[in-house]
Amino acid sequence: MADSRVKHIRLMANDALRRANCDSPPVPIEEVARSLGAKVLFAPYEGDDLAGMLINGGDQPIIAVNSAHHKHRQRFTIAHECGHLVLGHSGESHIDRTFEVIRRDAKSSLATDISEVEANQYAAELLMPLKFLVRDLPGIRIDFESDEKVASLAKRYGVSAQAMAYRIANLFM
Ligand SMILES: [Zn+2]
Repeated sequence: MADSRVKHIRLMANDALRRANCDSPPVPIEEVARSLGAKVLFAPYEGDDLAGMLINGGDQPIIAVNSAHHKHRQRFTIAHECGHLVLGHSGESHIDRTFEVIRRDAKSSLATDISEVEANQYAAELLMPLKFLVRDLPGIRIDFESDEKVASLAKRYGVSAQAMAYRIANLFM
């Protein structure tokens, strides 16, 4: 993804945080989604495959989340769908099957996945904002071997340790 696009996505996420008056973690993601005009619904889809949906075209955009998934995953799904909503990804509705934070990085993805890469980037910026992380990290260097540090940060931000590790690695490498 181009640097300018990454910056744009970061600005959009920061704007959403401002609207929701959020200045510290954990980001109240449902509130953020609502402040962006979406309605958030939860339903237990058995079968692990379906993460969530963005349903556009009615009076109000609806974000549907698989409530059978882990809380952290649900938060990421909501943030990801918010990304599709605000980044102008066309299409009336959008269904997200199991998506992997790790696999869908900018390098390995096909061009057709670009909206997924962008939605994941937005989700990371929204749930683990740079401006919060800079405050929470002791200086700009972090010991990547410190699982404990990553785990405690992940808990503080309400995300999986894997998502946090990936986020930190991408920020500072
Ligand atoms: Zn998606």
